[in-house]
Amino acid sequence: MTDNRVIVAGGGIGGLATALTLHQIGVPCVVFEAVRDMRPLGVGINLQPNAVRELYDLGFTPADLDGVGLPAKEWALVGLNGNDIYSEPRGGLAGYDWPQYAVHRGRFHMLLHDKVVERMGPGAVRLGHRVTGYDKTADGGVSARVEHADGSTSQETGALLIGADGIHSAIRAQMHPTQPPIHWGGAIMWRGTTWGKPIRSGASFVGLGTHRQRVVFYPISHPDPRNGLSMINWIAEVTMDNSEGWKQRGWFRQVPTSDFVHHFDDWIWDWLDVPAMIRGADSAFENPMIDRDPVPTWRDGPVVLMGDAAHAMYPTGSNGGSQAIVDARELGAAMVAHGVAEAALEAFDDKLCGPISQLILRNRGAGPFGLLNMVDERCGGTFDNIDDVIPPDERTAFMAGYKSAAGFAIEKLNTAPPTIPPGARIRSKAAAAV
Ligand SMILES: Cc1cc2nc3c(=O)[nH]c(=O)nc-3n(C[C@H](O)[C@H](O)[C@H](O)COP(=O)(O)OP(=O)(O)OC[C@H]3O[C@@H](n4cnc5c(N)ncnc54)[C@H](O)[C@@H]3O)c2cc1C
Repeated sequence: MTDNRVIVAGGGIGGLATALTLHQIGVPCVVFEAVRDMRPLGVGINLQPNAVRELYDLGFTPADLDGVGLPAKEWALVGLNGNDIYSEPRGGLAGYDWPQYAVHRGRFHMLLHDKVVERMGPGAVRLGHRVTGYDKTADGGVSARVEHADGSTSQETGALLIGADGIHSAIRAQMHPTQPPIHWGGAIMWRGTTWGKPIRSGASFVGLGTHRQRVVFYPISHPDPRNGLSMINWIAEVTMDNSEGWKQRGWFRQVPTSDFVHHFDDWIWDWLDVPAMIRGADSAFENPMIDRDPVPTWRDGPVVLMGDAAHAMYPTGSNGGSQAIVDARELGAAMVAHGVAEAALEAFDDKLCGPISQLILRNRGAGPFGLLNMVDERCGGTFDNIDDVIPPDERTAFMAGYKSAAGFAIEKLNTAPPTIPPGARIRSKAAAAV
């Protein structure tokens, strides 16, 4: 007889948000995470208002999020001459009922982990447990194949299996054995953090350059009251010839900043010194900008994909982490409606797989950075007045189109009922079957 618990493969942002959601609605679950130690890895990510709303509904407080990041105030694109291309307020200043947070990915990840352990106990996340595949069981459940850090293996049974195992997902590889390899469009990113004085609003996301070479930076900590310095997250990006595919070993590695700073040697203005910002970091993470071609479904009977396993996408829209959180909540809502049953996974897949697959493809086309492409195409990136290059209405319409597709539309979000109503609990199996 299959265990009634839900098995979550992967304890990243998506897997841990799923565990917290399932616990909130009364569904027993266990998370199997491949790494042996949870460490605060990564640099900056953005939590969009739609995700912050879900975190608040999960009981996180503004103080929790202020401990790992800060509310973003502005999103701006700037030309190479320092002139504004586009800027807009973010979060509460834009009219959302919830803030947008720019956070340190690793610290936020640890915050989620601490909450899971606090609420569900230390056994809820099994570290050093890699899920290598699954088998459906005769009674409609699922058995996950698990490889342990000591080399031993086990079969773990559950009612459902959630594949939250990221872009290199083993669950997805089994579900879609003929899926194409990872897709790389030629952009390579170097990411790091440097202490510095925040510019503009004090909590501005700034993107400057062209679509072939650009820098993005934003603070991810409140300024230290002693010296006014914040941790500034930066991403330096260059597009190269990708005709021979990605040649480096591995997708993610730490490199010295001297490896790539020369691409930005002359990016120095009186308001910004890009080489100094890059050199201010001890080292950087190098990784190609990759995603995966969409698949027609995220579900195979009692197994479903979520987060990057379902929809790894270019980070141009700053919503990979946010969408993983929203997925977790939508899965929970589907279980509240349909029980811990395949029907819940079907409802989740029906609702999200199509639109989010569209977003993956849209982000390949540069996402909101498409405005930089337009400026580059129309005037080579240098201009005196942006209105002469892209009229204000066209800029606003471009951004509105992107945000609506990504689920950021202000009115829609503010008036939407909670994804999971307060106090909602799972129905009993018997009731769910009716
Ligand atoms: C180490 C790391 C650093 C990152 N740094 C950044 C960053 O700086 N900026 C940014 O924008 N995004 C970063 N990301 C990606 C970002 O966190 C994700 O795009 C987003 O949060 C979606 O989360 P996810 O939980 O779906 O996937 P992920 O965050 O990738 O989490 C997947 C989890 O599953 C685990 N796992 C993988 N395979 C298995 C398996 N077979 N069995 C069990 N567990 C498995 C992984 O160890 C990981 O903990 C990083 C991801 C990782 C893993």
